[in-house]
Amino acid sequence: MRRLTGIGVSPGVVSGRAVILIQRAHVLRYQIAPERVAHELARLDASRTRCREQLADIRARVAQRRPEMASLFDAQLLMLDDPMLLPRAVAIVREQRVNAEWAVQQVFHELGAVFDEVADPYLRERKGDVADLVGRLRMNLRQGAATPRDLLREVDEASVLIADELTPSLAAQVDWSRVRGFATDAGSRTYHTAILARSLEVPAVVGLHDASTRIQAGEIVVLDGSASELIVDPSPEELARAARRSDDRRPAARAPGAPADDAERKRPATTADGVRIRLEANVEFPADLATARYAGAEGIGLYRTEFQLASGVGGSDEAGDIVDEDRQYEIYRGMLEGMAPGAVTVRTFDLDEDQLASHLSQNPLAGGWLAREARASRQGLRGLRLSLTRPELFRVQLRALLRAARHGQLRIMFPFVSSVEQLRDARAMVAGAAADLAARGETVPRVPIGVMIEIPAAAYTADLLAREVDFFTIGTNDLIQYCLAVDRADERVSRLYEPLHPAILRMIVMVRRAAARQRIPVSLCGEMASDPALLLLLVGLGLVEFSMTPGAIPVAKQVLAEARSDELRSLARRVLRLAAIEDIERELMTAVARIGHAKGGVVS
Ligand code: PEP
Ligand code: MG
Repeated sequence: MRRLTGIGVSPGVVSGRAVILIQRAHVLRYQIAPERVAHELARLDASRTRCREQLADIRARVAQRRPEMASLFDAQLLMLDDPMLLPRAVAIVREQRVNAEWAVQQVFHELGAVFDEVADPYLRERKGDVADLVGRLRMNLRQGAATPRDLLREVDEASVLIADELTPSLAAQVDWSRVRGFATDAGSRTYHTAILARSLEVPAVVGLHDASTRIQAGEIVVLDGSASELIVDPSPEELARAARRSDDRRPAARAPGAPADDAERKRPATTADGVRIRLEANVEFPADLATARYAGAEGIGLYRTEFQLASGVGGSDEAGDIVDEDRQYEIYRGMLEGMAPGAVTVRTFDLDEDQLASHLSQNPLAGGWLAREARASRQGLRGLRLSLTRPELFRVQLRALLRAARHGQLRIMFPFVSSVEQLRDARAMVAGAAADLAARGETVPRVPIGVMIEIPAAAYTADLLAREVDFFTIGTNDLIQYCLAVDRADERVSRLYEPLHPAILRMIVMVRRAAARQRIPVSLCGEMASDPALLLLLVGLGLVEFSMTPGAIPVAKQVLAEARSDELRSLARRVLRLAAIEDIERELMTAVARIGHAKGGVVS
C-alpha cells in the first residue's frame, strides 16, 4: 500500500482500477484483457506497414528534388526494422498487457534515454528522427482507432483516471458514471478542471507531481478528494472503508449542516443580523442550470461561454460552433428563460489564441481547446484582447447575446480587461452588433455591461473603469495568479497561491470602494467565495454579492446565517492590520471557530 498526497479539489471517496492518461503525449495507458493482446499486436503490425509505405513514398518524392536529403528517410526506414523499436513494443504489450500506443510511448522513452547518454552530438541529435518515426507510428495507430476521448467513454465501470494533466474539454466528455474520480500530476484548486470536478461532483485530487508514472494501469486505487490522498494498492480494510464512505457522493448533501428541504434551499441568504447577501452560481454548461436552481442560486453570476467549445453543449454530443449565431442565440435564450426572473451574467469568450486556433482547425486531439492551459500561464492574447482582434467572431457572439436579451435579465461581462481603452472598444463592438440587429428590424433592449476585475491593472484603475461600466465582478482566480505571479495550473508553486495574501485583500477592498463611489454593484466569482471561512471574511470586507460553484451555495447560506455582520467587519479590520499570511489565517480560523463553523472552513 502506498499513499500519495496532493491537493484535494473535489470532495468524496472512490475506489477502482487505475486508467492512465498521458495527455501531454496524447496517450492513454490501460490494461488489456489477455485475449486482446493479439489484437494490439496486429495494430502495431498494421501501423508499421503503413509507416513503411508512407516513408517509401516520401523518400521517392524527396529524392527527385533533393537527392541528398533522401538518406534521412532511409535511416527512418532502417529504424523501423530495428529490434530495439517494434520488437520491444511487442514485448511490452505481451508482458505488461497494455495498449499498443502506450508500448510505443514506452519504447520512445527507453530509446530517448539511450540517445541522451551518447557523447557524439551528431548521433545525439538523431533522437529527433526517432521522435519523428514514433510520432508516425502513433498517428497510424490512431487510424480507425478510438481517441482518448472515446476510450474514456468506454473504460470499465469502477475506473479511476490518473493523468499527467486533464484538460477541461476532455474532462467534460468523460463518462463520469464509469470513471469514478480522477487524479492528476498537474493542477491546483482553481485550475478549470478542478472547478469542473466540483460542479460535476466528481472526487478529485490534483498536484500529485508524478502519479501518472508511478501507478500501473489496472492497479487498484482509493482516491480521497476530501483528504487530498491517493492510496495505491490499498489494504482490504482501506478498501472497505472507502466503500462505506463513497455511499453518498453528493457534496451538498454531505456537507455539515446543509439544509435539506426545498423552502430552506430557496430562502435568500442573510447574516444573523439580517444583512442580505446575494448568492449566484458559476456555470459552464446550460445543463448546469438545473443544479444551480436546485442549490438555491438567485441567478447565474458567471456563465463561462468558452465551454461551448467542448462537446456536450446542452446535452448534445456535437461540438459547439462559435461561428453560428443562431445556435449561440438558442443557448443564451435557454439560459435566460431557465433562470428567470434571476439574472444571467454571460461572460464573453475567455479563450487564448491556441485554444481558438485548435477549435477553428477542428483539432480532434482531446477536444483541442484549453489543451495547453496546464503549461501556459495564459498571459497573452486572451479574453477580451483576443475577441477584439477577431471582430467577426466577437460580433457574432454579441449579436446572439443581444437577440437573446429580451428573453430574460441578461448582463454581458468582458473577461481579462486591463485598460479603459479595451473596454471602450468592446462597448463600440456592442453598439455595432446592436446596429446590425436594428438594420434587420430587431429591437434591442438595454443590457448592463460589466467587466471582470482579474488583472491587477484593472484593480488599480477600478475607479476609472467604474465610470464606464454598469457592474464589476472580481475574478480572484486570475487576480491572485497575476498579482502573486503564481501560475494557477502549476502544482510546483501552488503553495504560493494564497487568497489571504494582504495584497489580495487590499485589492478587493480597493475595488469594492471604487464600485461604491460610483454606485455600481460588485460581485466576486472566484473560487475563494466557495470556501465558507473566506466567504465570511469577504463579507467582513464589505462584499454582499457572490457567485460560486452551485454545490457551495447551501453551506454558504448556513454559515452566513450564523454570523453577525458587525463581528465580520471587525474581523476584517483586524485582518487588514496583519502582515503575515499565517497570522491572518489564525485570526480567521479563531473567528470561524467562534461562530461555530470551524468544521466548514476549508482554508488551504
Ligand atoms: C477568475 O479568474 O476568478 C474567474 C472566475 O474566471 P476563470 O476561473 O474562468 O478564469
Ligand atoms: Mg479569470
